[in-house]
Amino acid sequence: MKFSELGTKTLRNSPKDEESVNAKFLIQGGFINKLGAGIYTFLPLGLKVLNKVESIVREEMDVAGGTELLMPALHPAENWQITGRWDSFDALLKTKSNFGGEYAIGPTHEEIIYPLLSHFVSSYKDLPVSLYQIQTKFRDEKRAKSGLMRCREFRMKDLYSFHATGEDRDKYYEVMRKAYLKIFKRLGLNVIETKASGGTFSELSQEFQVIAESGEDTIYYCSKCKIGINKELRRELRSPTSGSLKSDFGACSGCKGELIEGHAVEVGNIFPLKKKFAEDFKLTFKDKSGKDTLVEAGCYGLGTSRVIGTIAEVCHDSKGIIWPRSIAPFSVHLLELDGKKAKIKAFTQKAYKRLLDAGVEVLYDERDVSAGEKFADADLIGIPFRAVISEKTGGKIELKERNSKKIKLIKVDELIKKLNGNIR
Ligand code: ATP
Ligand code: MG
Repeated sequence: MKFSELGTKTLRNSPKDEESVNAKFLIQGGFINKLGAGIYTFLPLGLKVLNKVESIVREEMDVAGGTELLMPALHPAENWQITGRWDSFDALLKTKSNFGGEYAIGPTHEEIIYPLLSHFVSSYKDLPVSLYQIQTKFRDEKRAKSGLMRCREFRMKDLYSFHATGEDRDKYYEVMRKAYLKIFKRLGLNVIETKASGGTFSELSQEFQVIAESGEDTIYYCSKCKIGINKELRRELRSPTSGSLKSDFGACSGCKGELIEGHAVEVGNIFPLKKKFAEDFKLTFKDKSGKDTLVEAGCYGLGTSRVIGTIAEVCHDSKGIIWPRSIAPFSVHLLELDGKKAKIKAFTQKAYKRLLDAGVEVLYDERDVSAGEKFADADLIGIPFRAVISEKTGGKIELKERNSKKIKLIKVDELIKKLNGNIR
């Protein structure tokens, strides 16, 4: 894609009204635009990143046996009244129809998927079922101030699995846990598997936390074993007679080493669901002996837009974001310097076409702006490879990785090979 076709611009300065690193860089780099507190447009560059994140999530959910569906974001109030969460869910956004009826705007989908499943599950033969969606969620967050980390409108993958027995659910929980680890690895995120209190509807939940100074959660973790425990849970487990938290948090359950305290961002959360929703919506099946039995279920959430904010928080330098290759908006940023010279223009256009023909995703900066501006934008946007063509590169391309200082002169063919393109 040509830079001028993006339809957006980078900003010369970072936005003054944003405190968080991710919001500053993502807005300045032209990935997102703020409409209001916790409400952002995904601009073309940002949408490319979001689509890549969601493709990885989708692929791994499919491998783990999930099947995709899409549920509505507009929920009749009645569904939420049945579970009691119409009044108890703090962040529930509500709206009234002009033609009668009240609605919740979906923050999560237990209230929808349980009654949905009751249309299709009646016998043990109909189980297990594993359904997921990737969707825009709405929550009336009080403190929506950290860019993509805590939004009022955000993207989430939520999967719900339904089983005839708790054992079957627990087995599937393990499949999902591994799928989550695979996803975060592909996303280039180092996650700590963290035990947390499950709140009202499950005994225990497990969070996937990324260590970051800006994280809202505090966890105790072992950096070697990549496991941790959320401070809030720790508090709940403390006996009234125990001493300070510091002396209380103990050793790593894996290597017995000392745990470190750190701030972290929750990027995913998985938990077995108690029987509550099955009881509320009477989601039962006939077991082998013909007895009506409540389904067992698990819930598996992953914040796809929060993942982008988290990566911006942990993968950047003073000049901008450094995207992992798997989710970068493009594989290579082609900078045309001295483009007024017909020879350079022709050579760059040819290189651009060859890259496209080879299936390489390339952002071609053909704008008539200074070299300094192009270099600054390349650093800010953070595409993993920068390829410069100028009078000085003498018929070759000067290649530099975003996170390295080394430069190298190479031929177009070599560049294509390096980027895993198909040379024709
Ligand atoms: P948190 O503890 O951060 O409020 P949560 O425990 O309420 O999140 P879940 O309901 O489990 O979150 O949602 C699943 C995932 O959705 C979370 O792990 C997180 O990645 C993401 N998420 C939740 N709330 C938001 C939000 N307001 N903005 C962006 N992402 C969110
Ligand atoms: Mg949480």
